[in-house]
Amino acid sequence: MDSLKPFMDRFKAGVFDILAHSMSGEVSISHWYRQLATLLKEQFEVEETFYLYKEGEWLVEYTDTRKDRKKFGKDMITSIGHEPYFILEHSEAMLERGDILIPCYDKSTLMGFIVIRTLPTAMWAKDPVMVSVLACDTSVLYQNVRRMLVTATERKRYHELFEVTEAFNSHMNVTQVLAKIIHSLKNTFPYYTFTLILSDEQGVEKGLPIEYLDYQTDNEALLHAFVSSEITIDDRGDHSAMYSPLNGKQGVYGLLKTEGTTNKALKKHEIEFIKILSTTAGNALENAKLYEQSRQSIEDLKLINDLSHELNANLDMKEMMNYLAGQIKKALNPDETGFIWVEGEEWKTVEGSSNFFRTEEGCICIEDVKQQLLEGNDAVYLSDCELGAGYCSLIAVPMIHHEQLKGFCLVLHKDSYAFSFEMYKLFKSIVHHSALALVNAMLRVEMQEMINRDHMTGLFARHYLDQTVEKSMEKDNKGVFILIDIDDFKRVNDTFGHQKGDQVIIQLAKHLTSFGTENSVSARWGGEELALYFSNMSLFDGVALTEKLRETVEQATDPAVTISCGVSNWDRNKPDLMINLVRRADVALYQAKNSGKNQVAYLKGDAEKILQ
Ligand code: GH3
Ligand code: MG
Ligand code: MG
Repeated sequence: MDSLKPFMDRFKAGVFDILAHSMSGEVSISHWYRQLATLLKEQFEVEETFYLYKEGEWLVEYTDTRKDRKKFGKDMITSIGHEPYFILEHSEAMLERGDILIPCYDKSTLMGFIVIRTLPTAMWAKDPVMVSVLACDTSVLYQNVRRMLVTATERKRYHELFEVTEAFNSHMNVTQVLAKIIHSLKNTFPYYTFTLILSDEQGVEKGLPIEYLDYQTDNEALLHAFVSSEITIDDRGDHSAMYSPLNGKQGVYGLLKTEGTTNKALKKHEIEFIKILSTTAGNALENAKLYEQSRQSIEDLKLINDLSHELNANLDMKEMMNYLAGQIKKALNPDETGFIWVEGEEWKTVEGSSNFFRTEEGCICIEDVKQQLLEGNDAVYLSDCELGAGYCSLIAVPMIHHEQLKGFCLVLHKDSYAFSFEMYKLFKSIVHHSALALVNAMLRVEMQEMINRDHMTGLFARHYLDQTVEKSMEKDNKGVFILIDIDDFKRVNDTFGHQKGDQVIIQLAKHLTSFGTENSVSARWGGEELALYFSNMSLFDGVALTEKLRETVEQATDPAVTISCGVSNWDRNKPDLMINLVRRADVALYQAKNSGKNQVAYLKGDAEKILQ
């Protein structure tokens, strides 16, 4: 027994060295195996050592190259327990009589054998106790190295996980997070290929192994993984693929496809690792999406805020509509924008609208929307329709004030699905926020109109005429002012009564309006006196026109009346004031009255001024 002790000590010391070495350096089964072989060869008269590992029911020799690997020993495995095994006769493959097989276990699973072929001089090999001690120590060494190996692999994996998590937490850039995930997967599993299958573009930049989900695919495993959001494995003989869903908290954003050959079937802990990374990818995609959504929401709110601010800043109607059209263009980029206002029985296409809405096809479109809104729809949202003139997308939102339909805004686009649901909501918001300001502006316009008009005749009021003439004197080259007074009107009143008198004034006002042009303003000057102003008209044209007016007035009134008219004018060559222009017309009118009424008069000075 004593003679055994130095032998046992020597071997244990050698084993301890290998273990210590393995702990401090790179851990691998092949490294460990080579060191053990050297120890045995140099100190224990061993001719050759090799490692046979179990692959399914077979034994395979471990070589660095993995080429020409012969499978054998199927029967042998079943008859071996934990004890060393002696080859008693020349058996199969590389084994010879006298070879010692030391079983290597990982927990209770047989992993393979260390085969020791000793020289005939090795006396220890003939002692069963020594062989047993050597086998036991070798087996313990194997188990320790293996445990270290598992720990090292796990450490590497957790390191990768840590790096991915760090990347995930340190930047919001989804492309960088996904790139890190793919990098880690490739590092950990170099023998697999990885592809991200995304459900949509999701703002991921190029350069990553990305495919886009084809919803028409007949790949059942892929669809199952996507729909059930569970890991699904598609095993097709020599090739297998695993689909792990990219799960976020709100949904599935795509899949991670892991492909490999079947002899490298995925183990449970590998699947778990891939699952963690694919969930991280899902979260990264979800975060990016939420970030994009919140950024968009902020932008939308800002737009609405600016809009409310601008529209309430006392812009005139024209400026308001153009501003609104500009904001809608910015937010939805439509091909056409239309603003339709209800005015009494009429539906008017107003300022800011694209010309399309004044075409026949545009009017049909407006009519169509109008009907739908009148039926009580709170909006019209079409994404894939033939709307005429090549338009496929439409949103129309009514403007409602005090439960009354005041009009609607609509946008059109030639592309199908041009307006997302988000855009639809934003457009609704824009219209709702501008409705009050627009209705107020409309009321302002109506009120101003009322102030500017004479209630009885519908002609402009005197103050409006004053403003118009003053503006014209600033910007135009010339103008004619005509003052009209009904002759002997007192008698009309006396004869036919005041009411009849009123009607005559109204008839004359109407007649006056028929002489109007886009350059003229007709107004009630006061009582039975009316006035007309033409910008950019000469005195002679003015007098001729007034003559015509005077000649036709008798037919236009019932009871027929005549009028006397005073005409004055101004031009750029001789700067003038409104007050003088009016005074000269008044003097001329006085002259017309004094010269027998029913005539047109102008001052000599005005005529000479033109002749100069
Ligand atoms: P002349 O030819 O000199 O202008 O004689 P006239 O009778 O028209 O002139 P006068 O200034 O004496 O009388 C104007 C009358 O017009 C007096 C007034 O009762 C009447 N009148 C003024 N405004 C209105 C009105 O809105 N309706 C009616 N029915 N009569 C009015
Ligand atoms: Mg008068
Ligand atoms: Mg009169």
